[in-house]
Amino acid sequence: MFRVGGAPDSDTETTLSRGLDLICQGIALLAGEDRSGWTGSDRAALVLELGEVSERLEAERVRAVGEWDAVTAWVADGALSAASWLATAAPISRTRANQLVRTARLARRYERVGKALAAGDLPVPHAEILATATRGRDLLLRRDEDSLVELAPTLSVDDFTTAMKHWRSAADDEMASADAHLAFVERSVSYATTLYERVDLQMSLDAEGGATVIGALQAFDTGPDTAPDEGGPADGPRTLAQRYADAMVQLCAEALARRQAAGHPTPGIDGMIDVSLLGLGASGAPGLDEPEYFDVHGRPGGSEAPSAWDPTRHCHLDSVGPVALDVLVRLACDAAVGRIVMRGQSEVLDLGRRARIVPRALRRAIRRRDRGCVFPGCTAPVHWCDVHHLVHWADGGPTNLENCALLCRRHHVLCHEGGWRLACSPDGTVEIVQRGPGPRTRPPRPPGAGAPRPPGAGPPGTRAPTPGHHRAPSYDLAA
Ligand SMILES: [Zn+2]
Ligand SMILES: [Zn+2]
Repeated sequence: MFRVGGAPDSDTETTLSRGLDLICQGIALLAGEDRSGWTGSDRAALVLELGEVSERLEAERVRAVGEWDAVTAWVADGALSAASWLATAAPISRTRANQLVRTARLARRYERVGKALAAGDLPVPHAEILATATRGRDLLLRRDEDSLVELAPTLSVDDFTTAMKHWRSAADDEMASADAHLAFVERSVSYATTLYERVDLQMSLDAEGGATVIGALQAFDTGPDTAPDEGGPADGPRTLAQRYADAMVQLCAEALARRQAAGHPTPGIDGMIDVSLLGLGASGAPGLDEPEYFDVHGRPGGSEAPSAWDPTRHCHLDSVGPVALDVLVRLACDAAVGRIVMRGQSEVLDLGRRARIVPRALRRAIRRRDRGCVFPGCTAPVHWCDVHHLVHWADGGPTNLENCALLCRRHHVLCHEGGWRLACSPDGTVEIVQRGPGPRTRPPRPPGAGAPRPPGAGPPGTRAPTPGHHRAPSYDLAA
C-alpha cells in the first residue's frame, strides 16, 4: 500500500471537512428515512435524483483527481503513475483508474470540457467517452471542442459512443492509419488469477491479429448445442460465450499437443495435492512406488467438523495457484502422477517416479471403444476427451476398460466439480445416475477466501507421521 501524502492547511481542511460532513449527514438522513408509504413514482424520482447527485459528486472527484495529478502528488508516495496510485490506494480497478486519470487530464487541458463538467452540463460518462475517443487527436479536438461538448448531453451514452467512433474515423485518414499502427504497438495479452479460482484473460489486438483469433475461435466452436429433449447434451445448451471459452481452451490444448508431438519441450499442467486430501488408502496411486507411509485422513466435507486450515496441506496448480480439491482430483483422473515427500513447504526430501495413470494400450482400447465423449447427448470427438474413472482410483476404482470412459473437458468438469455422476449399465452403455445441483449463486466468502478447503479429521487407525519429521507426502500431477 502507498502512504497517503501530506495534509492540507487548516483553512482548506475546514472547508473540505465541512463539505464532506454535510454530504455524510445527507446520506445518513436518506438512509434513516421511512419509505414504507412511498408510491412507485416517488421511488422512481428518488432513483433519478440520487443519480444526479452521484453524477455531481463524480464530476467533483474528476476535478480533484485532475488537480492532484497536475502536481504529481502521487510521486511522493513512490507510485509509478497516477493510475497505479489510484488502483492501489483508492482502491479501484486498474481500468477504472486509467479512465479516471484520462478524463481528469482532458478536463484540465481543455477549458470548455472542464467548465461543462464542473457545471453539470457535461455528464461524466460522456466526458469519459470523449477522453477515450480523442486520444492522440489534440489538434482536431481543439477545432471541434465546442461542438462536441454541446453535442454530448443531447445523446445517450450509447449514441454518443457511436457518434465519437464516426468522429474519430472521419476526422482524418492519416490519423486512422496511425491508429492501426498504434493498435499494433499497443498489442497486449495479460492474465490474472483471481480469488475465485478463475483466470481472467485480457487481450487487446490490432485488427488483423484480432480477426485471426476470432477466426480460430469460430473454427473451434462446435456450434449451438441442441436441447436435451432433442438429443442434445443432458446438461443443456451452452451460451455463445461458454462455447468460445471451450473453443479457446481446446485450441490451446491442441496447439500444445502438436508442439509436444513435434519434439519441442512443452510445459504440461503441473499440480500438487496433499495425499491426505486425496483420501487414499495405503495402496496409493496405481503404478506408483509404495510410499513409506501416509498420514491418511478422510476427505473434507464429511460429517466430521473440519480442523484448522493448514497451509502445508493444499491443492495447487502451477501458474494459477491454490485450486479446489475437485479440480486436482479431476486432473488426477487422467494424468502422470508422482510422489513428492516434503519437509515443511519448501524442502523436498524424496522425489518418486511419475507414472501415467492410464497406460497407453488401455487408452487406445478406450478410445477405440468410445470414439468420443460418452456423456449422454454429447458429440465431442475423441481428441477432445480425457479418460474418466467412473469410480475414481483414489476411491479404489480400478483403471480398466469397465471403469473408464472418455469425457470431453466440459463433461469431465461436470462429473467432478459439477456433482454429476455416471455409471455403466448392464448393457455397457453409460448413463447418468446423479445430477449435479446446477449453477449456484456465489455464497458470501469468509475472510481468507481462495484458501484451499480445510481437511477433515482423520479416521480411527490413522498412521502418525514419523516423530521429528513434518513430512507431508504430496502427489505431483502432470495432465
Ligand atoms: Zn474423471
Ligand atoms: Zn461431452
